[in-house]
Amino acid sequence: MGIADNLKTIQNSILKEVTLVVVSKTKSNADILQAYNNGQRIFGENKVKELVEKAATLPQDIIWHMIGHLQTNKVKLITPFVNLIHGVDSLKLLKEIDKRARKHNRIIDCLLQVHIAQESSKFGFGINEIQQTITEAKQFKNIKISGLMGMATFTNNKMQISAEFQSLKNVFQEVKNNQITILSIGMSGDYQIAIEKGSTMVRIGSAIFGSR
Ligand SMILES: *Cc1c(COP(=O)(O)O)cnc(C)c1O
Repeated sequence: MGIADNLKTIQNSILKEVTLVVVSKTKSNADILQAYNNGQRIFGENKVKELVEKAATLPQDIIWHMIGHLQTNKVKLITPFVNLIHGVDSLKLLKEIDKRARKHNRIIDCLLQVHIAQESSKFGFGINEIQQTITEAKQFKNIKISGLMGMATFTNNKMQISAEFQSLKNVFQEVKNNQITILSIGMSGDYQIAIEKGSTMVRIGSAIFGSR
C-alpha cells in the first residue's frame, strides 16, 4: 500500500464532517506531494524549522497547521503564513501570537491544548482552566480561539483512551459556540475512538506515510 492508497483508506474511514490533517513531520517533500497530488491540502508539522522550510518549498495553496509544542521565541517565524495553531498551552504564548499576528494584519486561529493524558510529559492547560483562559483570551484581538486540542495517553487500553477523550468532550460541550467549533482529537492509533467521542479534526501521520 502506498501513500495514495493509505490516504484514501483513511478518508473513507472517517466521517465526512471530520477534517483530516495529514501529519507530515519528518517526511520528505516528495512524500507530501504524493498526498497533495491526491487532493490533500491540509498538512500538520510539529517543528517550526521544518514547517517553515516545507512551506517555502511546497505548493502555496497548502494549508499549514502547527500541531506541536510551540516556543514563544519561534512564533514570529510562522505567523506570516500558518493557518491553525493546535498546541497553545499558555497565555504568554497567546500574547506573543497576538502581537506577531497584528504585525501581519492577520487574525490567527488557535486551539487551546488541554492536558487529558495520564503522562505528565504532555503539555496543556488543565481542564478547569479552559473557561477562564477563553475569557482572558478575548483581550487578544488578533487571535481567534476556534477550539480545543488534546492527546490521549499512548496506550493500548481503549477504555482509558475513551475516558480521556470523553473528559475533553465534556469541556468542549460547555464552551462550544459559533466561534469555538473545533475538537482536535485522534491520531493514527486512536482516531476511531476520537471520532466516536465527537472529534471534528483528526491528525494522522503514520497510518498514511508509514512509521517514522
Ligand atoms: C505526530 C503527531 C500526530 C500524528 O501521529 P501519528 O501517530 O503518526 O498519526 C498527531 N498529533 C501530534 C501533536 C503529533 O505530534
